[in-house]
Amino acid sequence: MQHSHDTIITEDVAIAGKILLQGGIVIFPTETVYGIGAISTKPEACKRIYEIKNRPSDNPLIAHFSSIEEIEKYAKIGIQSELLLKNFTPGPLTLILDSKITSFEDSIFTSGLETIACRIPAHTSVRRLLEYVGLPISAPSANISGKPSITREKDAIAVFSGKVDCILKGEEPIVGLESTVVDARKLPIQLLRAGSLDPQKMENLLNLRFIRPTSDSSLSPGNRYKHYAPNAKLTIIEENPSLEILNLQKDEKIAWIGFSKWDKAFFQIVVQSNQEYAYRLYAFLNECDLQAVDQIYCQVPQKDSLQEAIANRLHKASDPR
Ligand code: AMP
Ligand code: MG
Repeated sequence: MQHSHDTIITEDVAIAGKILLQGGIVIFPTETVYGIGAISTKPEACKRIYEIKNRPSDNPLIAHFSSIEEIEKYAKIGIQSELLLKNFTPGPLTLILDSKITSFEDSIFTSGLETIACRIPAHTSVRRLLEYVGLPISAPSANISGKPSITREKDAIAVFSGKVDCILKGEEPIVGLESTVVDARKLPIQLLRAGSLDPQKMENLLNLRFIRPTSDSSLSPGNRYKHYAPNAKLTIIEENPSLEILNLQKDEKIAWIGFSKWDKAFFQIVVQSNQEYAYRLYAFLNECDLQAVDQIYCQVPQKDSLQEAIANRLHKASDPR
């Protein structure tokens, strides 16, 4: 399918599925964030995702599967990986597995690696899409590289209309943060990206400690890149401070997300828990861009199982540019 300017926006999985099978690019909701997908066995279509997102070519895509049996057609599932898949999927877990594919023709798209990042999503729309096409779907988060991920349909339509072949409408993501990425091919098991699935639950099940992500980003290529950044400068703070401390210009528009209200904010989201923080963070960041705020203040997350994943996104979003 050629670059199209007409984007079909539909709730019909069969329409979206046919477009994928013709080599098209489809945006769809998952339980984590919106994905931008192509059939994994169509390398030309997968490459178009990189163009549309402006994604660095060495940052591999996550392949989405309907079941463990489907993964087994393409990748080797070791003992620990199998336990994790059986206990935590469908859901927000991505496992790095060794590819089984040897011939180029039926190759799954891996951007040159010998491993495949595999996920079985839980969201009804993407599950129905996977069943319709009967093939894995490679899909990174649907956002322009470096920008915040997308959790609202209106942002998906605003950013990708005219750029992709189809946008599948469905229930918006309820988790709001990307999947947890784990490499359990050998011991010690590595947590490559903190995400919405609590690694401690996996550690408890396997009775093993995982190695946490370090600044050595070589294991998961995506860690190398700046991410999630809104247009305005983003600062992470402990409490909502007084304006005097911040030394703001009088007419600057301030946005705030945190656990208590801040009267000085032009636009704010008050959350009750880390779960709600995770769920609303990307919507907040995208709204900050839409409202053209001048400065963004984000409160540090609470100390619980989602702290690491939220703090990681805030940290990357606050990178000076
Ligand atoms: P995204 O889908 O945009 O959330 O990004 C996918 C994440 O999975 C990135 O951080 C990638 O680096 C990581 N990833 C995908 N495939 C692999 C792989 N084969 N080995 C290690 N990390 C991977
Ligand atoms: Mg991403």
